[in-house]
Amino acid sequence: MRSAISRYGARVLPNTEQLVAGCKARGEFIQGPQIAEFEAAFARRHGVDPSCAITASYGRMAFYYILKALDLPPGSEIIFPSLTFWVVPELARVAGLTVVFADVDPKTFTIDPDSVERLINGKTRAIVPTHLYGLPCDMDRLLAIAGRHNLIVLEDCAHALGALYKGRPVGTFGTGALFSFQTLKPLNCYGGGLALVRDPALARKVRQLIDALPWPSEKRVRDRLLMGRLQRIFVKPWVFSISLFPVLWISALIDANPDVFLWEKIRSLHPLPDQYTERFPNAQAIIGLEALAHFDTWTAQAQANAQYVTDTLRGIPGIQVPMVPLDRTHVYYQYCVIGPEGPKRDELVVRCVRRGIDIETLHVDVPPDMELFGTVRAEAAGARRCAQALQIPAYCGLRRDQLERVATTVRDVLAEAAAAASSPP
Ligand SMILES: *Cc1c(COP(=O)(O)O)cnc(C)c1O
Repeated sequence: MRSAISRYGARVLPNTEQLVAGCKARGEFIQGPQIAEFEAAFARRHGVDPSCAITASYGRMAFYYILKALDLPPGSEIIFPSLTFWVVPELARVAGLTVVFADVDPKTFTIDPDSVERLINGKTRAIVPTHLYGLPCDMDRLLAIAGRHNLIVLEDCAHALGALYKGRPVGTFGTGALFSFQTLKPLNCYGGGLALVRDPALARKVRQLIDALPWPSEKRVRDRLLMGRLQRIFVKPWVFSISLFPVLWISALIDANPDVFLWEKIRSLHPLPDQYTERFPNAQAIIGLEALAHFDTWTAQAQANAQYVTDTLRGIPGIQVPMVPLDRTHVYYQYCVIGPEGPKRDELVVRCVRRGIDIETLHVDVPPDMELFGTVRAEAAGARRCAQALQIPAYCGLRRDQLERVATTVRDVLAEAAAAASSPP
């Protein structure tokens, strides 16, 4: 039997165990010099002072402490895209702000500046452009709007480390930015995050807040690394075929959501869970530091894979391959196409899954449609359209033969559907 191809591929260093064992042997598992080295290397990549890159327990907490350091008046409004990971707006609420959701442009999946502008009022204080799936937002327009209305811009770079807008890396355009180092994110440290802050005085405040937190216990960090290893094993092609894949296969038929095995429960994050309010440990920093050395190679591979899929799918009627404006680069954290909607889309997914290619449909969320957010001010028509996308595996860890199998299978399934749609019944 041919193995199934998983929707996710974690980026894993072959020497992870040795790096961690070395930390332990030196008595630097929790506190150690690699934290500052990692921050400095990250800052260097972005052309900022080392003091302006501050590691945190999660990407979301990096964001939270930037908000705390900014000390915006309670009830200030902050605008998010209506297609994003729900935890980020949720933490803005924990920080005392009112969240508002602007629509996204279905061509790029990123926040629509016109929608942002429509939602601005006297209470608006900040905008959070999410460089979704690895494509930078339209920063010139967003910065112009922010300038006109005196708003702070905080970039969500969880998907987009290494992506460029007009030659400049994302994370360097706003007042601050968050990066995530979760297992499936572009730079995998098995968890953790980083705040990149432009102004050294603001960076000092963020660092003070984070430095005041306790260190995690050794057990917590050991469990986290183990959990990362399990997630990683779980999505390896051969294990995936015999464990998770049948679950996906069946749930594709019965329309269940199997992601409960990988993702966290949607819930209020007030009060903050314990593991949120801790510091980023050295054992994870050393993994990040080493991973940075491989990072550009990984990105180039993901981009080459994406190009291959695009070349294979181009020209199929009714299918929109990723659109990359000429002034940006896409790092393809996820590769998404927009095709048919509703039951037709679901049927395509089932057909791909049956042929051993796992297609995900919505990697992030449409928070305005979540009960957690109740009645928020939102524009979300474009986000709902994007939520109908097909997410095709094109990650850098795919072998060439796997990539070809993905691309040709998806092409055949889409082309069959397009032919059926255009022929009379
Ligand atoms: C993963 C993610 C984050 C934050 O990640 P953490 O899990 O908090 O490190 C933020 N925004 C988006 C869009 C994400 O996908």
